[in-house]
Amino acid sequence: MKNIFLTIFCTILWSSTFGQDPLYLKNKNLPCVERTFFVYVHIAMDSVGDTNMPLQRLDSLFKAANDAFASICISFDYCKIDTIVDYSFDDIKDDIEVGLVTSRFQKKRRINLYFTDKVLDERVNSFSVHNGITKSDECIVIVPKSGKGLMHELGHTFGLYHTFEAKFGLEFVNQSNCATAGDLICDTPADPNIGPNIPCEFISNLKDSNGDYYKTEIGNYMSHHFCAHCFFSREQYEVMAKNYLNSTFKMW
Ligand SMILES: [Zn+2]
Repeated sequence: MKNIFLTIFCTILWSSTFGQDPLYLKNKNLPCVERTFFVYVHIAMDSVGDTNMPLQRLDSLFKAANDAFASICISFDYCKIDTIVDYSFDDIKDDIEVGLVTSRFQKKRRINLYFTDKVLDERVNSFSVHNGITKSDECIVIVPKSGKGLMHELGHTFGLYHTFEAKFGLEFVNQSNCATAGDLICDTPADPNIGPNIPCEFISNLKDSNGDYYKTEIGNYMSHHFCAHCFFSREQYEVMAKNYLNSTFKMW
């Protein structure tokens, strides 16, 4: 009898130690990029000549970004801050204006972080180039001066898709196609993107084509529920680190 108890105890101990769901291992054993990216910061003035960006806020945004990427040993610091005096760039209305501002201010081989009052779609109000970290002159992140969406756009910059990405086909709730559809990542639940109002909650009767109800995670940085953003998943970290480490050239 004693041996039976011992066997049961050891089985429980083993499963609680080694047999955990990978999610419970959280961010242990992730690749370590060991890199600080020195970011060029460009801040647009408004029509009365104010940047509306106190240095204290900039520091707190960089701290938040450093916290979000610490699991893969990536950090950010700013190497230069300049001011965009032409206040028309405080409201970037379309891709042409994105091209205009970046053609004037973009520094090659750096992450370029632009702060404007508005950029493109007012509901999302942020912009970046997908996988920009692997492109010498397209590492462009534009966010409002509140910093809303910064981690989301950095996620795109390091190669992540939206959790509701549809260009590879819709991911099923049961995730049987998670590697080839949706965001191509298997530890983020299928997300139907219930916009356009992008609430800070997920209440939906939507079902996928199998008839299963969506149970998404609005806190993932790559969802469009910006007010709830607070984490990247383990696989998202792996993809971001791999994209940078496998890139043929490196940002400074
Ligand atoms: Zn996005």
